[in-house]
Amino acid sequence: MSGAWGPIESDNVAAHPMLRVPRILAPFLALALLHCRAAPPPPARHLVLVTIDTLRADRLGAYGSSSVETPNLDALARDGARALDASVQVPLTRPSHVSLLTGLYPAEHGIRDNVSPALREDVPTLAERLKSEGFATAGFVSSVVLSKQSGLARGFDTFSDQFDVGGGDERPLDAVQRRGDLPTAEAIAWIETRRDSREFVWLHLYDPHDPFEPPEPYASRYADRPYDGEVSWSDELVGRLDAALARLGMRDQTLLVVTSDHGEGLGEHGEEFHGYFVYESTLAVPLLLRGPGIVPGLQLRATVRSVDLAPTVLDLLSVPLKTTAHMSGRSLAATLRGGPEPPSEATYAESLTPLLHYGWSDLRSLRDGRFKYILAPRPELFDLREDPGETRNLIDSSPVQAAALHGALTRRLAAEGSASESAPAAAAVPPEMLEQLGALGYIGAGGAGLTVKTGADPKDKLEDYRAINILMREGLTRLREKDPGGAAARFQGLLARGVDSFEVRYYLARAFFDQRRPREAAPQFEAAIARLPVFGKAWVNLAICYAALGDTSRALETLKKGQAANPKDPQILEAEATLLRDLKRPRQAIAAYEAALPLAPKNALLRVKLGEMYRDAREPEKAIRLLREAVDINPKPAQFWNSLGMVLGANDQVADAEAAFREAVTRDPRKAQYAYNLGLVLLRLERRNEALALFGRALELDSGFAPARSRLAELGQRP
Ligand SMILES: [Zn+2]
Repeated sequence: MSGAWGPIESDNVAAHPMLRVPRILAPFLALALLHCRAAPPPPARHLVLVTIDTLRADRLGAYGSSSVETPNLDALARDGARALDASVQVPLTRPSHVSLLTGLYPAEHGIRDNVSPALREDVPTLAERLKSEGFATAGFVSSVVLSKQSGLARGFDTFSDQFDVGGGDERPLDAVQRRGDLPTAEAIAWIETRRDSREFVWLHLYDPHDPFEPPEPYASRYADRPYDGEVSWSDELVGRLDAALARLGMRDQTLLVVTSDHGEGLGEHGEEFHGYFVYESTLAVPLLLRGPGIVPGLQLRATVRSVDLAPTVLDLLSVPLKTTAHMSGRSLAATLRGGPEPPSEATYAESLTPLLHYGWSDLRSLRDGRFKYILAPRPELFDLREDPGETRNLIDSSPVQAAALHGALTRRLAAEGSASESAPAAAAVPPEMLEQLGALGYIGAGGAGLTVKTGADPKDKLEDYRAINILMREGLTRLREKDPGGAAARFQGLLARGVDSFEVRYYLARAFFDQRRPREAAPQFEAAIARLPVFGKAWVNLAICYAALGDTSRALETLKKGQAANPKDPQILEAEATLLRDLKRPRQAIAAYEAALPLAPKNALLRVKLGEMYRDAREPEKAIRLLREAVDINPKPAQFWNSLGMVLGANDQVADAEAAFREAVTRDPRKAQYAYNLGLVLLRLERRNEALALFGRALELDSGFAPARSRLAELGQRP
């Protein structure tokens, strides 16, 4: 981390010509300059903002690293400006990005945690401001933490957060994040669709975030340092984007900004990742800016905070802040254009993770240039100039500095109000989001339902924190890798450590459930529901447990209670419908399916199931309407077309049935049943030879497919 506060010489202040002119001559020179100096360059027309998640400043050549190859970022620093001391407000992806994109502190924008409701509608964003100025806007994000649910999509014409989130609880980690080449390619493709308007592109790369698995050649090149490999790979991606700007002739008109939302512990202070402590290993980030008017090679020495980014780029784009909007950061545009360094301002950071997820104390820090104070049950003071690694606590030996920073920090916190008042209400987070975050291991051990607050110092709880996170990660991995016994042992270990949260109860229940132990699973689902009643899947699984134990009335009663707690959740109604169908109560099942339909307008499978219920109830018109809706919503699954063909055929709509079966055969040519069904309908259309060929094909696909064999025999053919 050294370098950021070291005596790095910056020559641009002294180099600025106006500063060397004797004062008395200045007015004359200024007059003369009016006549002979070219007009200042026009402001940047476009803004391209790249946030590389989890990027430590000290991994870049431009920040003194000699062991990681970052040629593109280093070139950016040469052609533009670098902030030597850029610092984030919170070392967590969502709240930090919200500060970057609003110019507000976490207490002001309200996002304190990755698990939080969407950003409030009344908080203006950078994208909204630029869109209102006529910019075409596009955002491309790579983590589910920044998906539309975050509220950060507001103001973007195009917002790409497509993650494959299908497939139930054990979806792989990779499914909720994506490798950076995909969003980079999307961003380039968007830029290539040239518009006349000004453009704002936000590209978020998640690659340096764990797991550290860089692609080749970086995997081999950095075999023992995979984090550094991810950094080098991300540098390549920035290079691709920048090359596209050059190729399209946009580079000279574009303000390109690269920064990060936080660093990474990598073992410093015992922290492997980020989001727990507020040491510089996770607060210091790079900040590079290149564009019209920015002095090439400039090294900004003043502390630049995340909240300064939005006002600075608006200024560089000559877009005024709206008078109604407030940003807490300050613009550094004048300095970037060659003006004097601004007066120093303190930077504030917080970590509420220990409080919100574990019931321990939160951490707050204030750094005024050289000295940094961390408010905790055992407070800390560091002299970053002498001790950039924050290894020597000066709280007792430097009482004056400590008192000054402590006073400033407590005044700030008094103005902010209680943190617990603005603590994220997990109940307001969409359940599917909770589950995705859980799959990432983000919720850790807490989230909703935390009841015991001990106020312990996070420094004293580091071993607990690590052990809990290891158990949580291992538990989720075992669950995903179909080792529910191993998973159950981990989650029981968490309970034994006193971590009793929704996630622990829910995943322990899932582990029992997957072992077909409904008697043990049911009370754990009950406990999970008691902590978070808005998670529909817990109700559904609990009902399945009761049904498996033979208590169907309790299962139905559970689903009714779940519906009362989650009136907009179609999956509980669907589960009720399925149970009623299995109980041979088709009319009630149909009623439940019908109630679920309007809640799930895009659910094709639900329509297929209800359509098949109507088919069996001899109401073919309703069945056909629903199955047609299903294939309109999702035409890909062959079995949907097959179901449609069967109902049409039974209803004597033979030509339509042929078309539907043909779709099924085209979409899945390997399924004997579909070929056979198409053969049957062709036989009814008296196209015997075509039918015979299809029966033969069905047998080729599946030699044991008896219906085709007997049909051929009936038709006098030897199969
Ligand atoms: Zn992050």
